[in-house]
Amino acid sequence: MGLIKDLGNLLFPEDLCLFCRDNEGIDKEYICRSCKEQVEFLHKEVDLDSPYVEKAYYSVFYNRFLKDHIHDFKYSGKSYLYKAFGHMLLSTIAYYNLEDEIHLISYVPMHRRKEALRGYNQARLLAEYLAKELDKPLLKKNLIKIRHTKDQNKLGKLGRQTNLIDSFKAVDSYQFEGKKILLIDDIITTGATIRECGKVLIEKGAREVYGLAITSSKKF
Ligand SMILES: [Zn+2]
Repeated sequence: MGLIKDLGNLLFPEDLCLFCRDNEGIDKEYICRSCKEQVEFLHKEVDLDSPYVEKAYYSVFYNRFLKDHIHDFKYSGKSYLYKAFGHMLLSTIAYYNLEDEIHLISYVPMHRRKEALRGYNQARLLAEYLAKELDKPLLKKNLIKIRHTKDQNKLGKLGRQTNLIDSFKAVDSYQFEGKKILLIDDIITTGATIRECGKVLIEKGAREVYGLAITSSKKF
């Protein structure tokens, strides 16, 4: 274990910025000053117009920096970015005192074939980080993607509205009945994903569902 940890530190030194791998990072934020200057916190509350989602938020403005690094996080194997992005989510949670509001943390699931291909689910990595930092239970296998769907950002408006219908399922509801759940996703495109997940959780007995993402490509 010691050797593996040392090796990990060699590959990913903890005092380097996770984004540029260059400048020295600052404390637990995992981001250097010059990268931080490119991150604009909004702590934005968005109206998803859904009876199943109590409230939804995202943390930072969707600019070039965010776009590129979220792309790396999802598609270039840079799974370790969950720490830096997770830290951004934590500051939004603190901003709204969500910690006092919610009982459980969950995340938008990926279809198992897609997750096997990618090797990880980036939303799950974020949710695991938050659960650990906030000392809240994580719902791991209660929300399932039962149908493979096209990426929301590759579809037109109409396609996005129908793409996700009946593609999620909630199971073992005794683990979340009557509870308030914080649902984590990486990015809000149209909000359809959080709406659909919220719907299946509420229909199976969750008390309230809150959504939280790093950023949003939609102007709300
Ligand atoms: Zn940096």
